[in-house]
Amino acid sequence: MKVFTASNPTEAHIVCGLLTSNDIQAEVRGEQLFAIQGEVPFDDSTSPSVWLVEPSSAMEEKATSIVQDYLDSINQESSWFCQSCEEENEAQFGLCWNCGQAAGT
Ligand SMILES: [Zn+2]
Repeated sequence: MKVFTASNPTEAHIVCGLLTSNDIQAEVRGEQLFAIQGEVPFDDSTSPSVWLVEPSSAMEEKATSIVQDYLDSINQESSWFCQSCEEENEAQFGLCWNCGQAAGT
């Protein structure tokens, strides 16, 4: 079963590595599709994703909580949402890339 849909192959491998380091067998799928992303519509089915190799309800529960922890850490440390246009920005940018609003205002 699929436990995570990434926005790029690097992110998929980060999550896959987190799962395998917690004794969960996981694998990345969909990287080949990502390579031809320019030629096909980019949606959930063409994104690289992380799958459990031997799914069970216990594994699924553990994997889901690891993925959630990862997403929480990403949101806390590396991005913020513009209060003007609600676009997501990476932490190193002090101004919204979309509308130029300063962070936290
Ligand atoms: Zn903005």
